[in-house]
Amino acid sequence: MAVQLTHLQGQAIGVFGLARSGLATVAAALAGGATDVIAWDDKEEARIKAEELGATVEDPSAWPWERLHCLVLSPGVPLTHPKPHAIVGVAQHEGVEIISDIELLWREGQGRARFVGITGTNGKSTTAALLGHVLDAAGLPVSVGGNIGRAALDLEPLEEGRVYVLELSSYQLDLTRRFRPDVAVWLNLTPDHLDRHGSMTGYAKAKARIFLNMTTDDTAIAGIDEPEMQVVARAIAGQGRPKLLTMSITKHDNAALLVNADGELFHSGERAASLAGLPALRGHHNWQNAAAAWGAAKALGLDGDAILAGLSSFPGLAHRMELVGRRGTVLFVNDSKATNADAAERALATFDPIYWIAGGLAKEGGIEGLAEYFPKITKAYLIGAAAEAFSATLARRVPHVIAGDVDTAVRMAAEDASIDRRAEPAVLFSPACASFDQFADFEARGEAFCSAVNAIDTNPLEAVA
Ligand code: ADP
Repeated sequence: MAVQLTHLQGQAIGVFGLARSGLATVAAALAGGATDVIAWDDKEEARIKAEELGATVEDPSAWPWERLHCLVLSPGVPLTHPKPHAIVGVAQHEGVEIISDIELLWREGQGRARFVGITGTNGKSTTAALLGHVLDAAGLPVSVGGNIGRAALDLEPLEEGRVYVLELSSYQLDLTRRFRPDVAVWLNLTPDHLDRHGSMTGYAKAKARIFLNMTTDDTAIAGIDEPEMQVVARAIAGQGRPKLLTMSITKHDNAALLVNADGELFHSGERAASLAGLPALRGHHNWQNAAAAWGAAKALGLDGDAILAGLSSFPGLAHRMELVGRRGTVLFVNDSKATNADAAERALATFDPIYWIAGGLAKEGGIEGLAEYFPKITKAYLIGAAAEAFSATLARRVPHVIAGDVDTAVRMAAEDASIDRRAEPAVLFSPACASFDQFADFEARGEAFCSAVNAIDTNPLEAVA
């Protein structure tokens, strides 16, 4: 049994877009007593699923707009850019409010459950999963969903005291109205999705909605390491709400949550925790995620020891710098989620020395932007469609071989790394490419790496502590 939207009792609603969140909305609205859920998706199989759940499937041209309480729009449907979808114009003309599943969950649970919203260009999933883990380890009833994993309305039913940790994309935030999280985290801001928001300002504005309705009872955690984020923090401080915890990784000594170059976390000037040795949270970027989780957990009332216990036992997210094994001193790291050079950069910055497995379908610019990390790479093993192009970039700079496929690359890299006497050599699978030339998606690609690592088993992999 998932969420029941009892505040929709006796109402009719429209649901447009029937993927994960749309189907969960159909179910939650009907379970809560909505009289009619009128739904549409361009894909027939999605319409069939909605019908099976009890929705009335009808082309929007025939919808009874005058009876609709709201239109629940899938975050995949353009609201403003590149141009609003036709249904947006119709709903606006008919005076029907356009909202999201996130807004519905909050409306149903406000005052009973607690809500944490997490946004940012990078690190949302890690921070949401990490905070969920910390709260769960401390014994709180917690559900994690939204943009990550399960749709918001597919989460556990509302109950007094449950904490909903919601990962929120800018598209989802664009569709919130009264949503007011008790704690909100905005990690960072770099250019992304500009096609959907028109400009960096539009993108930042969508994200800023996370803080819009928060009051002096609520806590905002904002990274301030980009100039645009400093503007955001100043705006919150200027309006005096919500409570603000600024956050910086090594850059701004005056931040409320500060991580120094050694990975020491300070909270309001006091030493709070050492993040450097946390097994699944290596790298400066993960220190930011850990600092945010610390601040959020504190705001929810946890004490430092409980938070540290949770940070230490976090297993990490699959395919994101995931330590899948260790053979002797050699680490095997699955970073299949690195589908572009920017994401691969974090992993290359984190490990040393590196036996780098890369390639796939290259993005524009290839790997030239990673040149500053080339000296840390002992050898590269190139796979997939980009192998020749990457080989040309690495020529005379990094020893490399065209391995072709993941199995061969893993075998070669493991053999080379096994005779490396330095402290912690890493066989790093961080492709800096999309996966579609050889795999269905980055998950399948990461699983192929893990099986290849297991298959080279002459002496078994030691479990990762
Ligand atoms: P998102 O959900 O925002 O896409 P993830 O937590 O899934 O973020 O991480 C995706 C990739 O982004 C990671 O593999 C890593 O390379 C990078 N990353 C993670 N956290 C951060 C951060 N705080 N700042 C910058 N990059 C990050």
